Amino acid sequence: MSRLEIDADVLVLGGGPAGTWAALAAARAGARVVLADKGYCGTSGPTASGGNNLWNVPPGPARERSVQARFEDGGRLSEPAWMYRVLEETHHRVDELAGADHRFPSGDDGREVRTSLQVPEYMRRMRRRVHRAGVTILDHSPALELLTTGDGIVSGAAGLQRQNGYAPWSVRAGAVVVATGGCAFLSGSFGTNVDTGDGLLMAAEVGASFSGMEFSTAYALAPAWSGHSKGLMMQFATYYDADGRTLGDGGFSARGAAMAHLAAGRPVYARLDRARPDIRAAMRTSQPNYFLPLDKAGIDPFTQKYPVRAVLEGTVRGTGGIRVAGTDCADRRPAGRRRAPSSDSCRSTPCRCDAATGAARRVCRTA
Ligand SMILES: Cc1cc2nc3c(=O)[nH]c(=O)nc-3n(C[C@H](O)[C@H](O)[C@H](O)COP(=O)(O)OP(=O)(O)OC[C@H]3O[C@@H](n4cnc5c(N)ncnc54)[C@H](O)[C@@H]3O)c2cc1C
Repeated sequence: MSRLEIDADVLVLGGGPAGTWAALAAARAGARVVLADKGYCGTSGPTASGGNNLWNVPPGPARERSVQARFEDGGRLSEPAWMYRVLEETHHRVDELAGADHRFPSGDDGREVRTSLQVPEYMRRMRRRVHRAGVTILDHSPALELLTTGDGIVSGAAGLQRQNGYAPWSVRAGAVVVATGGCAFLSGSFGTNVDTGDGLLMAAEVGASFSGMEFSTAYALAPAWSGHSKGLMMQFATYYDADGRTLGDGGFSARGAAMAHLAAGRPVYARLDRARPDIRAAMRTSQPNYFLPLDKAGIDPFTQKYPVRAVLEGTVRGTGGIRVAGTDCADRRPAGRRRAPSSDSCRSTPCRCDAATGAARRVCRTA
């Protein structure tokens, strides 16, 4: 059992999409980077476990319409500037992935459809890219606390090496990126076993503030014996009660009716009968994991009903997190306030949007 102590320019906590993209960007800028993950970077977390649909809309009128539609859907509470930023970032990174030979599925016309990722392959490649960029990866090394200087400025983190007799590690760094995902605390939701809110807690301990937590999709629907709560599938669902009566109008808008029914202790069934026959194969290709438990049970979800349950996703679908304070991801609070008991030393850039490409990330920096 040996203690590990490293000095770095940038320490990234978490090796999901946000962490790996952040590490890559820092290494490309010439920084000495360490990335520590609780699990094995490249296989850990909800993105690495599933298939991801991407909000990837090219610049132009379609992007304008998409942002406007989401702005309206969100009761005009969201910030279009951030949506444009996430869209732009996602678009660039998907282009970069395509340039790095990532394979996207083809549409009927034979052209690539860049709106979903086969993420086990995506994250495997991200790990390789991070490694090749010279980043030191600490696998199975959960961070337990952020380190601070005497005046409360974040200066690194410390944790344990699970595969080295739980020996302690510590990294002193000029900047710490907290990319440890949201919190679905041990709910069994697909791939979220590692998302126990550690980074949020560590940030809170050094005085970070939070925003948008209340707007996260706390619960989602999954087949009753599965933890795979793919929201996109459910836009094609019609929901039924135990007597076969339809709940709500179907699709996303009926989710509330289905949830209310479940909350009252009554069973709810779904059938993906709103999916046109011509897109069913594409649904299977883009989200194969969703169909596995249904196939094993001998259920054709397009023609047969299956029971669903509500699964806690907490803040994993990422609208809430450490408070973002500026477009450059820096905290603008006056220096004099940084010594407050609940230290303001944590400058934060949380995600306002889901971004399987890691377009959003969370950062705590030193001054
Ligand atoms: C069922 C489901 C379906 C989804 N579908 C989509 C979709 O189709 N499209 C989409 O864009 N988004 C989707 N999302 C959301 C998406 O998965 C998240 O937005 C994304 O994974 C966030 O990436 P991240 O890197 O911030 O965090 P994560 O992917 O959660 O990664 C966090 C990483 O931090 C590590 N970690 C945690 N604690 C510590 C610690 N203490 N020390 C060190 N490392 C730690 C974990 O091991 C993990 O590797 C879905 C989520 C769920 C649950």
